Amino acid sequence: MDFREPDHIRLLRDTMRAFIAREAPREAAQRWDREDSTPRAVFEKLAATGVCALTVPESHGGAGRDIIAAMAVIEELSRRSLALAVPYIMCACYGGMNLVAAGSEKQRAQYLPRLARGELLFAYGLTEPDIGADLANVRTRATRRGDTVIVNGAKRFCTGAAIADTIYTLVRSDSEAPKYKNLSFVLVPRSAKGVSIARMDGLGMRGASLCDVSFDDVELPLDHVVGEDAGWNQGWPMLAGPALDVEKLEVAAMALGLASAALDDAWAYAHERKQFGVAIGAHQSVRHVLADCKATLAAARLVLMHAAWLAGENRPCGVESSMAKLFVCESAETIVLACQRVMGAYGCVAGVDMERYVRDILVFNIAGGSSAIQKNNIANRLDLKRG
Ligand SMILES: Cc1cc2nc3c(=O)[nH]c(=O)nc-3n(C[C@H](O)[C@H](O)[C@H](O)COP(=O)(O)OP(=O)(O)OC[C@H]3O[C@@H](n4cnc5c(N)ncnc54)[C@H](O)[C@@H]3O)c2cc1C
Repeated sequence: MDFREPDHIRLLRDTMRAFIAREAPREAAQRWDREDSTPRAVFEKLAATGVCALTVPESHGGAGRDIIAAMAVIEELSRRSLALAVPYIMCACYGGMNLVAAGSEKQRAQYLPRLARGELLFAYGLTEPDIGADLANVRTRATRRGDTVIVNGAKRFCTGAAIADTIYTLVRSDSEAPKYKNLSFVLVPRSAKGVSIARMDGLGMRGASLCDVSFDDVELPLDHVVGEDAGWNQGWPMLAGPALDVEKLEVAAMALGLASAALDDAWAYAHERKQFGVAIGAHQSVRHVLADCKATLAAARLVLMHAAWLAGENRPCGVESSMAKLFVCESAETIVLACQRVMGAYGCVAGVDMERYVRDILVFNIAGGSSAIQKNNIANRLDLKRG
């Protein structure tokens, strides 16, 4: 066993840190959060570094599928701002990873080279107003009429829909077939006739354009069904397979980045802030809190990278990715809240990054499948008997 990060990942982290220092100063991250705006121009510069190609095979214009590298990029971007990490995920993961796993050859040829260059953003349309965890019961419908498909319904909490080119939409595609065999994915262009988008005002992850989306008789050619004809009614295996496993890791990587940023800030503050004549870092209660956070963060990174390694090797990782989502997101929330307390009242005021980290971290035990759902996944997949 070798736990060292490979040289190319360390180099990638250095490149990302230099990029962030240059293009995404703290003030910019605060402004994107305050204004709830996505820094598209900075994302374009990020794409020019080549990182969007990390999920796309060389045969389709990418750099080769490297899940650990993609997670390292997400972690590094999230240390500064989710408004930058989210468009990266929309391109490299919602677009690149999903189409590599489930697209037809024609769709791969059409989309992957552009995704690898960072030219397209995909939003993930799964959740609906009345359907959260129980995704197999979505009500948005797709009906085939000749060589077209008609989509009707609504999606909720669709991150990035207002800035996306395409909404990767889970639909019910068969009214007769049993549960799990009646779902498909459709590539719905945001600009298609009948698509309406309304922004929502979220607690955290601001700058990532949280949206309500509705589809009113959206008519599309059949080649917009993911996997084309062979993908019809194959939505559940596409969702429950590698796509959702990696989606859990993306969310965990964002949480890890945020926790890491919060700990860096609290660590620095513990040296600067003096009370009772000494730096607060000299008080045992603060030292122990920060030491606990360091240990938990190190464990969280290992759990995440182990699951990312399995996913990268195309090995089964359903249990490990749920464990990573559960452990990293719960640990990251604990770390961020502890770090906020180390900063006292200064961790509670707008304009201080810690206040934003707190708002942001609270969404991660919900988004991408709640902690309770990850526990269900682990127990079910490991066949824990109910009686
Ligand atoms: C910031 C943010 C961004 C998001 N982005 C997207 C996106 O891009 N695309 C998208 O499709 N969705 C997105 N979501 C939605 C997210 O994936 C859902 O919120 C999540 O799946 C949970 O659904 P829900 O909120 O409707 O909760 P519900 O499913 O209604 O659950 C409510 C509560 O009940 C618990 N619960 C439900 N069922 C069970 C069960 N069987 N066992 C135990 N407990 C259970 C849950 O754990 C939760 O605590 C986003 C959410 C947030 C907050």
